[in-house]
Amino acid sequence: MVGRKGFCASKNEVAQVSTQVPSLSFPLPLLDQGFSLLAAEGKIIYIQPMLTLKCSACRRKLWKYYKIGQGEVHRCHKDRIKKVWNMEERGGKVYCSCGNAVGIDRGSYYTMDKKAFTYKGTKTNS
Ligand SMILES: [Zn+2]
Repeated sequence: MVGRKGFCASKNEVAQVSTQVPSLSFPLPLLDQGFSLLAAEGKIIYIQPMLTLKCSACRRKLWKYYKIGQGEVHRCHKDRIKKVWNMEERGGKVYCSCGNAVGIDRGSYYTMDKKAFTYKGTKTNS
């Protein structure tokens, strides 16, 4: 069984969970969680899609988000936010440090204003 903990982000915005997986024991449940498989140098690598969100007003980085599934980022679940650069919660909304409101606090997640932020990074395409 491949551990789900212990990943660390690398320069190209992906996190390697494991670099050596026996070919006969793919832990397929990981794929349902948004992981992708990548074959490289004779090894199977799991990548976890990580997005870097940026403020569209000042272009500062907001936070790093672990995205599950396809499509646009409409919601950001707080427990999938992995790293925060700029975030201010105030009056039920979440703001960039510049004062741009990027989302509404819904408790366990934010409803994002798609005009207020941009993002880059890997997404699952499977
Ligand atoms: Zn900003």
